[in-house]
Amino acid sequence: MPDNSPSSRRTFIQSTAVGTAAVAATPLFAAEAASPSRRVIETDVLVCGGGCAGSAAAIAAARNGAKTLLVEKAPFAGGIITCVGLPYFDGIADITTKRIVVRGIALEMLSKSGVCAPDARTVTRHNPTIPNTFEFKLLLDRLFAEQRDNLSVLFNSFVCDAHSNGDRIESVTLANKDGLVTVKPKTVIDCSGDADVAAWAGAPFEQNKEVQPLTLHFRIANVTPTPNLSKQCRDALGAAQQRGELPYYYGPGVMFLFGKNEVYIHGVRVPADPTDAADLSRAEAQGRADAHAMFQAWKQDVPAFKDSYFMEAYPWIGVRESRRIIGKLVLSEEDLMTTRRFNDAIATGCWYLDLHPNKTTLGSANDFDPKKVQPAPYDIPYRSLVPQKLSNLLVAGRCHSATRGAHASTRVTVTAMAMGQAAGQAAAMASRSNTDVAALDGVKVREALAKQDAGPFTDA
Ligand SMILES: Cc1cc2nc3c(=O)[nH]c(=O)nc-3n(C[C@H](O)[C@H](O)[C@H](O)COP(=O)(O)OP(=O)(O)OC[C@H]3O[C@@H](n4cnc5c(N)ncnc54)[C@H](O)[C@@H]3O)c2cc1C
Repeated sequence: MPDNSPSSRRTFIQSTAVGTAAVAATPLFAAEAASPSRRVIETDVLVCGGGCAGSAAAIAAARNGAKTLLVEKAPFAGGIITCVGLPYFDGIADITTKRIVVRGIALEMLSKSGVCAPDARTVTRHNPTIPNTFEFKLLLDRLFAEQRDNLSVLFNSFVCDAHSNGDRIESVTLANKDGLVTVKPKTVIDCSGDADVAAWAGAPFEQNKEVQPLTLHFRIANVTPTPNLSKQCRDALGAAQQRGELPYYYGPGVMFLFGKNEVYIHGVRVPADPTDAADLSRAEAQGRADAHAMFQAWKQDVPAFKDSYFMEAYPWIGVRESRRIIGKLVLSEEDLMTTRRFNDAIATGCWYLDLHPNKTTLGSANDFDPKKVQPAPYDIPYRSLVPQKLSNLLVAGRCHSATRGAHASTRVTVTAMAMGQAAGQAAAMASRSNTDVAALDGVKVREALAKQDAGPFTDA
């Protein structure tokens, strides 16, 4: 008989190092171990969503002494990097000088992925890629395990409701294999990308009627690198679209990023509303159908794909845009393009205003010249992580407070990690001083980050 007693369930298996098979069973965490049932968990900081922002937020909060619980609906952390298979660390460096503008946990993850030195000041490419997205899962497991005294992680756990009383979130409901679980946190950090917690707890937010399209990434193996491959692939997709086999696509990006005979494809384009469960389900199926239609078109028309096979699509279609909270300050594209300075800057952004249209675009993801909307490294203020109306909630990553245009830049991976680290830092500071995150002085958060060489680094 399998042992299903509460004490046995109160264990947490974690990898201890990238590249080793060692695992260790450790108590979930002290506060939880003392609670009568796993159905009710009390914690200082609850981080919802373990993607780019959430992983950094959880590590930062735990390193700064706060009892932290990270919950993630996938069976692993990493968000877009591991769920959608995106290896890019965009936003790490100024596009022209290649000066690193985000340090802290983002740079630590990049250097621990073997891409640069931990003390690097510049990178060779302004948008470096990590070599292996599976090993990124292991790296995050290891970084979490290092904080096990303060940090617990629940994978396969969907945040499904939030309950507020006045200006405070009192509890958040999870659905997982223990059933419906109530978490009572002092501070919540919403890193769901979709502002799920903020929306369900009653914080004001906005969502464009038409959001940027969704994309499924996939890989095809046994492809022969040949000259003109991109053009041949593009032409084959044009023909497939003419035959009615492919509604939309972009690019396509056909890239030998992971192996010499293996291509990684970004080109699927599915218009959908990712906050509508039925429409998201339709988009997942459409993404799979389009990925396979692309593969078949290339196999038929492009000689380099003659002996190829469809390796795998990543588990989820990727969402670029959904809800954005309306915070104490709404960062605007004008702030970005005029390099407006904020005293409470807690992160630096530097990506162009990267809006994908809901139509086919050939050879590019955009229908405009990115150089025309390329800001210099700019400030992201603490107030853009603080929602209106709720005092114990921070929102970091692609659902922070920004106009649609500004968000098209702030949404990239490294910028999200920087916001996440700042939110984790702030939540730990609030916990230590028994203050709400909304009452915290963002200038103090900035100073604390600067002491750890974690930015902001807007100026050279
Ligand atoms: C297809 C695609 C291509 C992109 N290309 C690039 C690129 O080339 N370079 C770049 O830098 N950026 C790119 N981006 C943008 C960027 O990757 C994201 O905006 C970035 O990941 C934002 O980080 P985040 O932490 O806010 O969200 P995510 O990394 O998406 O993390 C959100 C996490 O929350 C979890 N979650 C969501 N809801 C719940 C819930 N209710 N309960 C529990 N867990 C939940 C998710 O599973 C996920 O792990 C791309 C985005 C997409 C979709």
